[in-house]
Amino acid sequence: MAGIVIKNVSKSYGSYSVSLPAVSNIDISVPDNSFLTLLGPSGCGKTTTLRIIAGYITPDTGSIHVGDRLVSAPGHVVSPDQRGMGMVFQNYAVWPHKTVFENVVFGLKLRKMPSDQARAKVEAALDLVNLTGLGNRYPNELSGGQQQRVALARSLVVEPDILLLDEPLSNLDAKLRERMRIELKQLQRRTGITFIYVTHDQAEALALSDQIAVMYKGKLQQCGSPQEVYVTPANRVVADFMGLVNFLPGRVVASGHVDIAGAGFALPTSGIAPGENVEVAVRPENLSLHPADDGSNGSRGSALVGTVSEQVFLGNIVEHWVQLDMGTALRAQTHPAELYQPGARVAVTVDDARASVFPIDTAQAAAAA
Ligand code: ADP
Ligand code: MG
Repeated sequence: MAGIVIKNVSKSYGSYSVSLPAVSNIDISVPDNSFLTLLGPSGCGKTTTLRIIAGYITPDTGSIHVGDRLVSAPGHVVSPDQRGMGMVFQNYAVWPHKTVFENVVFGLKLRKMPSDQARAKVEAALDLVNLTGLGNRYPNELSGGQQQRVALARSLVVEPDILLLDEPLSNLDAKLRERMRIELKQLQRRTGITFIYVTHDQAEALALSDQIAVMYKGKLQQCGSPQEVYVTPANRVVADFMGLVNFLPGRVVASGHVDIAGAGFALPTSGIAPGENVEVAVRPENLSLHPADDGSNGSRGSALVGTVSEQVFLGNIVEHWVQLDMGTALRAQTHPAELYQPGARVAVTVDDARASVFPIDTAQAAAAA
């Protein structure tokens, strides 16, 4: 088993002058026996990063260590089959004319393992992915989820230190995808193998990962636990990508104090100077609604006042759309017992421990960079 340390890895396809780097200056540390997800929108560089780790793409700069072994640095590139890694792809590509057993035993045959020993290893790998006893089936006799498990068993049978998975669930239907999530997480725990998993689905990343590395336009935006990236996003891009979020225009009046449309809020402002314009990012579940006092107008104290424009009852929560008097529309989620009808005047408060403040210029620069 082994962890991975990726330092300052960059890669451009073609010449630098004609193309932006597909990934630039990536630094990620993956602890041994953990589950890391590379998360970001299509084209942000996830597959490129994964293939660099696997050794199928040689980076322009940087180094990669597996445990204390250097596997990639300029002038020193270890080939994929010597890295102790397995890889599972989106289009899992099991061979249709071979049985499950023949599909899974392939890597062991390449290594010329004696057949008794190989058979035992294949059976253990099939047990691991819940395909016990299905070795004689052909892929067309299996469901999509079972075929994906065959692909998993095929990579696990050679006992890699690290398993790389590139959107392995995206061909499965929603229900199966959710079940396979749990199975993958359990598989990581049972085997102790370090998993590096690629997805563009933030819910999948939150459910699976010990650490999430959020990427955007080839750059690592933040790496942290699911709670860290969701609750304390490093910038606007991460806040926006990790789930529903409202952005409110404000201004820092003093350290820890932000003015939004004349109302004062105690919010974290570290590193932002008084007088700077900011955006306050707050998720719908971190807003509370209260009846507004009659005749209230604009904003008061530490609440923003507005009118409910839409109410959607979802059973476990209620979504309220609120048109604030200051101009911005907000989405708030409340307990189903707290219902406000369209037209109701409400005062909106912010759970200040769960809001983030971003300087406007930096936010735009990060998004545009
Ligand atoms: P993701 O997996 O996050 O969707 P990729 O790593 O596949 O992103 O791609 C990152 C960027 O590199 C994209 O802009 C993509 O168009 C570009 N790219 C990927 N592969 C190649 C290639 N073989 N040649 C040129 N550009 C590529
Ligand atoms: Mg990809």
